[in-house]
Amino acid sequence: MFSKILIANRGEIALRIHRACREMGIRTVAVHSTADADAMHVRLADESVCIGPPPAQQSYLNVPALITACEISGAEAIHPGYGFLSENAAFARIVEEHELVFIGPTPEHIAIMGDKITAKDTMKRLGVPCVPGSDGEVADLDAARAAAEEIGYPVLIKATAGGGGRGMKVAQDADNLAHAFSTARAEARAAFGNDAVYLEKYLRKPRHIEIQVIGDGRGAAVHLGERDCSLQRRHQKVLEEAPSPAIDAETRARIGATCADAMAAIGYRGVGTVEFLYEDGAFYFIEMNTRLQVEHPVTEAVYGIDLVREQIRIAAGLGLSRKQDSLTPKGWAIECRINAEKLPNFSPSPGQVTAFHVPGGLGVRMDSALYAGYRIPPYYDSLIGKLIVTGEDRLDALARLDRALSELIVDGIDTTAPLFRALLDEPDIRSGRYDIHWLEGWLAG
Ligand code: ADP
Repeated sequence: MFSKILIANRGEIALRIHRACREMGIRTVAVHSTADADAMHVRLADESVCIGPPPAQQSYLNVPALITACEISGAEAIHPGYGFLSENAAFARIVEEHELVFIGPTPEHIAIMGDKITAKDTMKRLGVPCVPGSDGEVADLDAARAAAEEIGYPVLIKATAGGGGRGMKVAQDADNLAHAFSTARAEARAAFGNDAVYLEKYLRKPRHIEIQVIGDGRGAAVHLGERDCSLQRRHQKVLEEAPSPAIDAETRARIGATCADAMAAIGYRGVGTVEFLYEDGAFYFIEMNTRLQVEHPVTEAVYGIDLVREQIRIAAGLGLSRKQDSLTPKGWAIECRINAEKLPNFSPSPGQVTAFHVPGGLGVRMDSALYAGYRIPPYYDSLIGKLIVTGEDRLDALARLDRALSELIVDGIDTTAPLFRALLDEPDIRSGRYDIHWLEGWLAG
């Protein structure tokens, strides 16, 4: 086992990884920008190294600085968290070339899944059902027209390098295809420096269902069921739950086995998430994330497993700690993503937190790096905490969420916490009947 791990991230996820390391008797090295010198992930780590000025390009994405920080501190492995360099194949390769361990999949698997066209081709070959779409990239408007006619409108134009819901545009009919095509390409070029796009059938009322997988890198893999992340705004997740109100045990076993078998076939190493849209009883693969997800705690809650510990064990060559037949979900878990944003427009609300009280009690987990007096810097993601509740069943979890939200105090800044209290009153949320478009419709209404 490693004796020291460098955590190449910040905020709640850096803290999350530190906690797993600490429980495993592994020392941690935090890295930080000058804007984060007073951050909680720095205060709690065993050691810390400043890696640059506030802009992420010069600090959290600064590869030479991260490698140097490992050399200075003697860390043997790097945990990338999510975002930043977590799905950067070149970074994973550089880490390995420096005889350090990258806690994640191989650079080859990151590269395959990081390109959505290659990912879809690979998954199709492995027997995973995909969204109908163009065969690969559509190079120009004529090709887009031809593909759209074949698929049938409405279609979605998506960036092959896409992420975070960017570079995605719907064309309802042939008349707005040209506009959607050029804006999707322009957005993709600006966001990812790669304007390759492809077409998919636009599904009208799907749920977003994703399957958690873990592979040992030697041909064994298991699945940990699904998470339902259908509550979204601008294609970004807002609330996640496990299990899904729309999936039964037989469906879970079937789609889970399809994913685990695919991962076993490619010798996948580490944790990963296979994302699907689910409509009228059918699954359609959209992408795979080769890292720990923001919403991983809901899976941890219902499966009673520490996913970061699994990642570290696998990276250290210890393999999977559990067999498939010992993995059964129990109870219900719901996660709310709490952002430093002002409602109703979700405008950024950085600033100084004057008071912070974390909800507690049975079945409540709050992953956050906030503290009273902390000044939220304006440079990074607006996520300030994740409130995760667990209950015996869905109604129990909803009641606990209501109770936990009533205890949360964050003064000095605006947060999205009131959104969740309002959602709890909605009959569709209470009954679990919502698709990926539900929240946008509710917010607009
Ligand atoms: P990103 O990598 O940017 O997150 P994804 O491919 O994971 O992009 O899609 C993000 C979200 O966009 C999905 O959860 C869903 O809400 C929506 N979406 C993606 N593909 C489709 C599709 N074919 N039809 C309808 N909605 C889609």
